[in-house]
Amino acid sequence: MKKVALVFVLAVLTPSLLLAWLAVRSLRDQQYLIERQHSLLCQGVADVLAKDMQDALSEQQRAFTAKVAGLLATKTPLELAKGFDAALRKEWPLAQIGFVVKLSGEILSPTAADGVDERKFLEANSRFLANRESAEVYFNSKLMALNTSPNVQTSQPEPSAQTENSLDFAKRYGLKSQVRNVMPQQQQAFLSQKLSSADESQQQVSKLAPAEAEFRQLIGDDTEGTLARFLDNKLNVLCWCRVPREPEVVFGAQLSLPRLEAELQPLLQRVPAQLQHDICVALLDDTAKPVALSKTGFRAAWKRPFVATEVGEALPHWEVAVYLVNPAKLTQAARNIRLTLGLLILVLVIAIGVGSWLIVADLNRHLTLARQKTDFVSNVSHELKTPLTSIRMFSELLAEGRVGDPAKQRSYLAIITAEAARLTRLINNVLDFARLERGEKKYNFQPCDIVAVVRDTAESYRPHLEAAGFRFTCELPPEPIVVNGDRDALAQVIVNLLSNAEKYSDRCKEVTVRVTQRATPLPYLEVSVSDRGLGVPRGSAEKIFEKFYRAHDSLSSGIQGSGLGLTLARQIARAHGGEVVYEPRDGGGSCFNLRLPVIAPERT
Ligand code: ADP
Repeated sequence: MKKVALVFVLAVLTPSLLLAWLAVRSLRDQQYLIERQHSLLCQGVADVLAKDMQDALSEQQRAFTAKVAGLLATKTPLELAKGFDAALRKEWPLAQIGFVVKLSGEILSPTAADGVDERKFLEANSRFLANRESAEVYFNSKLMALNTSPNVQTSQPEPSAQTENSLDFAKRYGLKSQVRNVMPQQQQAFLSQKLSSADESQQQVSKLAPAEAEFRQLIGDDTEGTLARFLDNKLNVLCWCRVPREPEVVFGAQLSLPRLEAELQPLLQRVPAQLQHDICVALLDDTAKPVALSKTGFRAAWKRPFVATEVGEALPHWEVAVYLVNPAKLTQAARNIRLTLGLLILVLVIAIGVGSWLIVADLNRHLTLARQKTDFVSNVSHELKTPLTSIRMFSELLAEGRVGDPAKQRSYLAIITAEAARLTRLINNVLDFARLERGEKKYNFQPCDIVAVVRDTAESYRPHLEAAGFRFTCELPPEPIVVNGDRDALAQVIVNLLSNAEKYSDRCKEVTVRVTQRATPLPYLEVSVSDRGLGVPRGSAEKIFEKFYRAHDSLSSGIQGSGLGLTLARQIARAHGGEVVYEPRDGGGSCFNLRLPVIAPERT
């Protein structure tokens, strides 16, 4: 038993409880996992859209270079320089102002006389374009990206030659880190797990770094490019290019931001279909104001997007930001998963509990049965030995002729007969039980008068009971009662009940057999055998009908038995469509009732 319990604990209980504990632990992380999954998905969308915007800007840069090349097809660079501003604006609507500057610092176009816009442009840019002042421009810095969240890092494209150059530049000019204008909730949540509070100041570091440089320095040996800088806190984006035949002359354009925003707006509609209802994507400018939206009319706390990605150095501090249309939906989904998993764990734990209980109960049942079988063998051996000893002793006395008195001889013969009958009963019970267990017991059913069966059995048992000092009463109805049954089997039930009444009687030796006919609920009869003996201990009223079960064991009560008499009686009664039940008697003793259905008179 101990071994089985140990195997059960090691092989079933411990692993199951461990699994349940792991499942409960994973429940706590569900909300975080779901948010994390969703944020990765949204981050992917933001990264792709930011990349699309960078590509669109590069496309515009190429369009500008192509326009310049087109204009130069019929003119020399210096001829074109004269009316470049007006010519470019006509050809390329994205241009707000067109300019031409020599690397020496001479500005060929526009001139202050060209118009108000041109004058303002020159006031703001002439010193920078003439290399007389350095300006703060932005670089996509890998160094800065290392300090930002992992989301931003993973979203970065592989370092190109250009970013490597930027990196060299960043190192050379000592780039400073910049804090982002927006605070993406998910990057924030992730970082606050990773960083101590002392590091919190580093949390939303921009991947762009500002550096001071002159126009000539910024251009270097390149043939085209885009420069973004802030003038009076307003973004100023310049596209420029130069042609190999006149490398000293640089053609450029200041982009119109409203027109650029209109160009970028359609890109925001590229949100994957499965996310279209759940998120709104916004293009935020450097003040975190939305300049384009994927869903018109959407409102949110613009500085607190779910996730965001910076567009890049062409539009510094501009962000592609993703907002959840219904933030509660995420929490609800996490709650639903937690609930489902919680229920599964509960079912698992209940199943483990019930399974364990069933195994333990079954184990106990088998152990009890094994113990009862052992007791049965020793009880039967003892029951066989006792009558055999008496039979042998009295038959030897008679055989040796040592008993002369005829009365004594008769009494000895009576004892031998009674003990032989007891042996026969016992052996019949054992054999019948074995047949029943194997399902081989056959009944010879036929209409029979139960009153006659009870009378015959009782009368054959009467001498034995009276010899043992019992007052035996038999109350039978005068008219026959017919049942469909096997005479011998029914007689065996009555003998078993009478034999028990005799065995379990103490000082008050009184046995009564009564046959009563009842009408409800269906016509049935009751053969009751009652005594004034020990009675059945409380709690054993049903168990006494189980095989091998003995409420009064041989050791404590000194009463021999096999634990099969009542089992057989009940099985035989049930085979006849009836039942054997026990009832305690007022004033002490037991009453066993054999109930059998009666055949309706017309069928007899
Ligand atoms: P056994 O051979 O032990 O008598 P039974 O199946 O006939 O086997 O009876 C089962 C148990 O029921 C007995 O061991 C005894 O404890 C109890 N029992 C049966 N008949 C009586 C009775 N008339 N009075 C008290 N207890 C009884």
